[in-house]
Amino acid sequence: MKKHNFYAGPSILPEYTIKNTADAVLNFAGTGLSVMEVSHRGKEFVAVMDEAQALFKELLNIPDNYEVLFLGGGASTQFCMVPYNLMKKKAAYLNTGAWAAKAQKEAGFFGEVVEVASSKDANYNYIPKGYEIPADADYFHITTNNTIYGTEIKEDLDVNVPLVADMSSDIFSRPIDVSKYAVIYGGAQKNLAPAGVTFVIVKKDILGQTGRAIPTMLDYRTHADKGSMFNTPPVLPVFAALQTLKWLKEQGGIAAMQKKNEEKAAVLYDEIDRNKLFKGTARKEDRSLMNICFVMNEEYAELEKEFLDFATERGMIGIKGHRSVGGFRASTYNALPLESVKALVETMQEFEKKH
Ligand SMILES: *Cc1c(COP(=O)(O)O)cnc(C)c1O
Repeated sequence: MKKHNFYAGPSILPEYTIKNTADAVLNFAGTGLSVMEVSHRGKEFVAVMDEAQALFKELLNIPDNYEVLFLGGGASTQFCMVPYNLMKKKAAYLNTGAWAAKAQKEAGFFGEVVEVASSKDANYNYIPKGYEIPADADYFHITTNNTIYGTEIKEDLDVNVPLVADMSSDIFSRPIDVSKYAVIYGGAQKNLAPAGVTFVIVKKDILGQTGRAIPTMLDYRTHADKGSMFNTPPVLPVFAALQTLKWLKEQGGIAAMQKKNEEKAAVLYDEIDRNKLFKGTARKEDRSLMNICFVMNEEYAELEKEFLDFATERGMIGIKGHRSVGGFRASTYNALPLESVKALVETMQEFEKKH
């Protein structure tokens, strides 16, 4: 039976990525060796790293005064690298979810943290608006897509201080104006590559201003100066990321991706709103295009487990909601075909007919 992969992360990747990576695990660039067993300083891998950085810049239209880094440590290491590198005294954070709160907590090790607004009181089911950012904050941190709660900041904010964004789960899902950000980072395992590589887009002239000594590996300048080759980069995930970037280009780039993502999300949200058994959990204007969260309507609450089993039998994988929200979460990342969304919608309709 065809499996429809709705996992939130690690999550679905294009077949193109998986197939080319599998091939390179056996025979990389005609070397007769695996991509896992060659020097990262050999010309074949250097070419992969160079092309991945170039394509990353091309697809997101990244201005020349920015650097793209591929690091280890996950998005969670960026929670401390951001304040380490940017915070002099004070930073502002928007608390839109568990990841945002974790990022905010790490900043507390480096100085004063101002939480400008929070939606925690409503279990993070919306994006706060109309807050004020202190003009003397060294930066303002946002999480553009809240993977657990299915809310998303879908436009590039205009703010009065340098803007930093965790885009772990919506990078490459829509065009962004990178010039509005000082730093954009994320773990690759949601929408780009297998776990193990973390991308960072950093505006060069924001670095080196804190007066703080930064351990070598945690200093963005180390990696920017060495083209992400100061130490051994996560070779295999970078290779896979390059395949996804090539696939994205072949699909028509990020604007084309956005159209497909909007279509997929509309199909599923329409069904959630129509079907008498289900309801969405996120406030409508803040609904994510990447993680679609829904629960049983109150009258049907006892059917939750039955629906999960019903859907699993029909090949729907990974739709159980995060424990802090409950219900269901269908992640509709770039690589998920519309066909999978339609299969889920049919499953919901069949289940409705039964009840
Ligand atoms: C998954 C996720 C993280 C954590 O990423 P790691 O690479 O596991 O550290 C951080 N932020 C967001 C928005 C995420 O979805």
